[in-house]
Amino acid sequence: MTARRPLIAGNWKMNGLRSDGLALAAEVAKRLKAQGAASFDMLVCPPSTLIAEVGKTVSGSGVAVGGQDCHANVSGAHTGDISAAMLADAGCSYVIVGHSERRTDHGESDAVVKAKAAAALKAGLIAVICIGETEAQRDAGKTLEVNKTQIAGSVPDGATAANMVIAYEPVWAIGTGRTPTNAEVQEVHAFIRNELVAKVGPAEAAGVRVLYGGSMKPGNAKELLALPDVDGGLIGGASLKADDFWAIAQCCP
Ligand code: PEP
Repeated sequence: MTARRPLIAGNWKMNGLRSDGLALAAEVAKRLKAQGAASFDMLVCPPSTLIAEVGKTVSGSGVAVGGQDCHANVSGAHTGDISAAMLADAGCSYVIVGHSERRTDHGESDAVVKAKAAAALKAGLIAVICIGETEAQRDAGKTLEVNKTQIAGSVPDGATAANMVIAYEPVWAIGTGRTPTNAEVQEVHAFIRNELVAKVGPAEAAGVRVLYGGSMKPGNAKELLALPDVDGGLIGGASLKADDFWAIAQCCP
């Protein structure tokens, strides 16, 4: 099997003023630096207001910085939006696209997510493309079908194992304290990897990191991260506490 280096990614969402956000970033950076040769990559995605300062705070520690969203265009009349090029310019190396909160709150379709992911690749960023079914879709037995459609519609041309990460986030598990069973997570992750073959070919698909997201915490991270097709986590709530975020990272195999 292709070795995939786990990625532990924190999505701060719309949380963090300068004082607490920078303190959190500094603590995470301190721990990663102290650990030395880690077996995992670590990423924090603060709100846009903190990206540049968080970048300076974590500089030299190995912690990467990412945006939580980007516009599909490079520049122009898009009030309130931020382009992938701007994120790269501010020090980001990753950007999350297609998070379910963007899909729901901002009506983002697979086509929009694909265009944003394409913009991310063009700007030299690694796109963390989020997919996942709602509870109603799972209850209707449509989990695999929904994730298949989202992969087909959201992964852009030119995506590779190096410039794309997939985050499988069942919508009903985000922020709820509920998670699928380990067997259910592994089933969907293996399915996603298989679906990626059609998009990027078998060699690249074997190398794409597929993260699990949805109520990952220190108490369940070890078993989730040990699953064969789980290559890290996209972590919301627990990434806001350095102790919890770090404890999850320590669960990487
Ligand atoms: C997320 O929003 O990406 C997420 C996984 O949130 P939480 O960890 O809080 O469920």
